[in-house]
Amino acid sequence: MSRQGTGNWSSGSGSGSGGSGSSQLPSTAMSQSGEERLVVAVRVRPSTEPNNNKCIQILSDRALLFDDGSKNRPRKYVYDFVFGESSTQEEVYKTTTAPLVKDVLNGLNAAVFAYGATGAGKTHTMLGPNPKKAGTPSSELPPKTAQSNHGDGMMVKALDEIFQHVENAEDSSKFKVTISYLEIYNELIRDLLNPGGPLELREDNRGQKITVAGLSEITTCSRHEVIQNLLKGNKARTMEPTAANKTSSRSHALLSVTVQNKTPLGTKQGRLFLTDLAGSERAKKTKNRGKRLQEGAHINRSLLALGNCINALSGGARYVNYRDSKLTRLLKEALSGKCKTVMIAHVAPEARHRDETKNTLVYADRANHISTRLQNAG
Ligand code: ADP
Ligand code: MG
Repeated sequence: MSRQGTGNWSSGSGSGSGGSGSSQLPSTAMSQSGEERLVVAVRVRPSTEPNNNKCIQILSDRALLFDDGSKNRPRKYVYDFVFGESSTQEEVYKTTTAPLVKDVLNGLNAAVFAYGATGAGKTHTMLGPNPKKAGTPSSELPPKTAQSNHGDGMMVKALDEIFQHVENAEDSSKFKVTISYLEIYNELIRDLLNPGGPLELREDNRGQKITVAGLSEITTCSRHEVIQNLLKGNKARTMEPTAANKTSSRSHALLSVTVQNKTPLGTKQGRLFLTDLAGSERAKKTKNRGKRLQEGAHINRSLLALGNCINALSGGARYVNYRDSKLTRLLKEALSGKCKTVMIAHVAPEARHRDETKNTLVYADRANHISTRLQNAG
């Protein structure tokens, strides 16, 4: 069963206030317990080079050493979680996303976003290594490849767990799962489930409820149908060759999964946002001209706006400006402390990527200070 309509991006819980361009940090965010904070993880993708010229050394499951190539001593960075080159999708899922899925099934909101330069492993983490086979149940795969669905990314594993929960429920008909999937490309919003022209972002006059006019929503009880739609949507993403990566994605992809559960006490609704951000590299690295350069500028505008929000939040600012980009307007609810958020920052270990790796580690370090501040306040 499918229907289309106006994608109600906000779950209605809203965040902060103020239609004036800024929103006040909700007081609940300041008083949340440690559990409610932003979790920051760093994942190092496997090296693709035979030599051992690396700029990263893993110290523990929370710390790594980064060598900037100068005479300075390598610097230690500490995060909530550090996943080394041999980490599995299962491990990353269990640690970062599975706890959020439990919350969503209990009627809370949660968000996961993958950050990092092109080629650092964001799409691998979010979708998986082999999108063609992603989501195929082991029983439907030939025996030799039956292990391959262990490689499914966070989006597929989260949907899997949600549908398993619904199927195992005493009365599955009490559940409704709805997905929408969009991309932001050059500051334009496109529907990935029903690709067409750009869609408008709308906000109610209190700036609380964000909707994407005309965004399709698919309501389904079938795990298979929803995963097929996700993979089809991913194919519709804007992929353009750049010098950094032949199939790099120049767009931010945002998947929203809403779970409604009718209970005797009323309807519980939880929402999970899963975001595969566009590459965070500087425009000059991609050696682009013209159209590609303009894309770079827009991508940086969105990620810069995201960075500014993260900086403001980590500095304890009372007002945070989410209005500078479509990405931050859509992620406002996730960032402002009303929902649990996990950022998985991705880095490449090879020394030749050390500039981008450093930028990502610093970005993630700033994000980590939001979590520290919230934890101290909790
Ligand atoms: P991004 O989305 O950040 O541009 P990709 O996810 O496309 O990067 O990863 C770039 C390449 O590295 C792909 O070929 C991908 O399969 C591989 N890769 C990335 N992360 C991992 C990982 N954790 N394990 C194995 N291969 C990976
Ligand atoms: Mg990608």
